[in-house]
Amino acid sequence: MPDASVLGKPAQYLTGVGPKRAELLARLELHTVGDLVNHLPRSWEDRAPTPPGRGVPADAPLVLRGRVVDSFERRAGPHLLLMVARMAVPEHGEVEAVWFKRPSRSYDVLLGLKKDLARGTDLWLVGRGEPGLLKARRIDVDEHYRVDDPRSVWHVGGLVGRYATTEGLTERWLRETIGRALEEAADAVVEDLPPDLLARRELLARPQALRAVHRPRSAAELEEGRRRLAYDELLLLGLAWALKHRQIRRVDKGYGYEVRRSLLTPFKAALGFEMTRAQKRVVNEIFEDMRRPAPMTRLLQGDVGSGKTVVALAALLLAAENGRQGAFMAPTEILADQHFWTFKRFLADLPVRVELLTSSVPKARRTRILERVAAGEVDIVLGTHALLEGAVKFKSLALAVIDEQHRFGVRQRTTLRQKGPAMDLLLMTATPIPRTLALALYGDLDASTVDEMPPGRAAVSTLHCAEERALEAVRLEAARGRQSYIVYPIIEESARLDLKAATAEFDRLKKGALSGLRAALVHGRLPGPKKVAVMDEFAAGRVDVLVTTPVIEVGVDVPNAAVMVIQNADRFGLASLHQLRGRIGRGKDPGKCFLVCDPKSDAARRRIQVLCETTDGFRIGEEDLKLRGPGEALGTAQHGELGLAAADLARDADLLAASREDAEGLLAADADLAKAENAGLRRRLVERYQERWKSIDLA
Ligand code: ADP
Ligand code: MG
Repeated sequence: MPDASVLGKPAQYLTGVGPKRAELLARLELHTVGDLVNHLPRSWEDRAPTPPGRGVPADAPLVLRGRVVDSFERRAGPHLLLMVARMAVPEHGEVEAVWFKRPSRSYDVLLGLKKDLARGTDLWLVGRGEPGLLKARRIDVDEHYRVDDPRSVWHVGGLVGRYATTEGLTERWLRETIGRALEEAADAVVEDLPPDLLARRELLARPQALRAVHRPRSAAELEEGRRRLAYDELLLLGLAWALKHRQIRRVDKGYGYEVRRSLLTPFKAALGFEMTRAQKRVVNEIFEDMRRPAPMTRLLQGDVGSGKTVVALAALLLAAENGRQGAFMAPTEILADQHFWTFKRFLADLPVRVELLTSSVPKARRTRILERVAAGEVDIVLGTHALLEGAVKFKSLALAVIDEQHRFGVRQRTTLRQKGPAMDLLLMTATPIPRTLALALYGDLDASTVDEMPPGRAAVSTLHCAEERALEAVRLEAARGRQSYIVYPIIEESARLDLKAATAEFDRLKKGALSGLRAALVHGRLPGPKKVAVMDEFAAGRVDVLVTTPVIEVGVDVPNAAVMVIQNADRFGLASLHQLRGRIGRGKDPGKCFLVCDPKSDAARRRIQVLCETTDGFRIGEEDLKLRGPGEALGTAQHGELGLAAADLARDADLLAASREDAEGLLAADADLAKAENAGLRRRLVERYQERWKSIDLA
């Protein structure tokens, strides 16, 4: 068996890796031979030879194996050179192969290519063609390999791994280098899972699995290898979450809570409505947590409009009753501001001191508030995440509430804990995700769910229609005293153009369909105070129509707004559409949502259809996962940080459940993974989640 230390050798140890390429590899965080072995393909491509008589496959490249008959070059402009070879391809007949080259950039490459195109050479060609290409008998070549090169089998002939790479490193070179690393070191990879576990879950050994994934001989072998590595990742994640959960439970806050009801009782009496059963249950769960000696880390889930804010307020009041401070953080200033006014309203007659700290608060006032917070003269502070970023010193911060927490990454969440190891944390989210996903994302949290809507909510109907129809509804409702939102998409890639478009649209509507109505425009680039002023006007009912960008996507609560028109709705994701739509139907009037768009792709059509069919956030979450896959559906920030390369949360629900169970089992037998047989697992755990993530603390 090869020496395990080969895995720790620098990548330069491998043939073909010099200092320059080693530097490029380092950009991919590939430093050692072991890193290369563990750098999994991000997808696989079927490069089996394309059978004759079939058109160009839609999801795979064209792959041909043939012999050069003759070749020539043809200039196609000052910067482009075509190399053309006539190839004899068995069963296909004669095919014209074309390489596009920029002569100035790749002189050496060109020489090499010319050598490969000598008459009689056998080549593998991987490329693309027009539809019906094989009739046209032409292939545009992306990659070619000499059949007499023994390494060609790493790149063509069957399933081939596709690797993420970086500028300056071709994928071909990387694949080859990983191939070399595998030959050198795959057998040195240590199997660190207990053998009985492997047997029970019927999993491949790690070295075998790595080979299967990098160079699968069949789809079945690939899947077996992938599952093993996926299980591995999920087991590590499960162990990390379970350890973290336990570690928090061991901390002692150092103070106790008493439910005095001096604030809670008058608060409930002044609400103007009775909390739903679900809200009451969840408040109890939170109170129980807060009264424990160990700090709370609880996720509060509940669909848009289920009434999470009052639940959070109750928790903040319990802290206030006990003379401790609370912070309430929202992802946007608009939302923080709006919560501030909501809090003011709910707490109007109570001796609770609430302040708002956002960038729109004037400097002098801000300084005064900061002083009072430090002196313990403010009970509840609202703001964005900047609140916890050092500038604000609390006298006795005991509870932090994070609203719409899915807007933030996993790592941001886990570092929050470091800011206050003994602080109670309440994280609120409206993105309903399937249970298995919740387990992966929030495995370190306790969870509560508000699974009931307040009574008397009017339904929201959703219609995919033309703009005139939607604007007609806006005018009709305005005549009845109801307000509307008209939302334009802004996506990051084209933010400036989108913003310009939204502004131009505002002018067009004001002069046209909305003339005579009180209309206002709000978007993310407006200065904070201006934004807040417009929102306040709208909330006070002095604006009929708010033309807006997705800045109002989350949280905004104006019950008199009954209509929402979403322009170019096909450009939004499902989760965003659901959130947006959640802004209406909050009063007693039925909400009307109009999706104005002409969806071009099947996926977009499906999104629109799902939204018209249901308002059930859970179903929408599942559809989103199906349509976009976990990376996109969960937000790349969240998903990327889980560090899952082999596991696919949409597909591996069974593995996730199994790995979670096994993680619990391992820790039950060996609480700190201190036993010799768990040393390997423990090492990997520390490497990944302690040193890289800083999210657990194994001594
Ligand atoms: P979300 O869970 O989306 O944050 P909110 O907390 O903004 O929902 O609540 C939505 C609206 O429902 C608010 O206007 C809130 O005052 C109201 N609300 C909350 N709970 C109840 C209840 N039990 N009965 C009636 N209305 C309620
Ligand atoms: Mg909310």
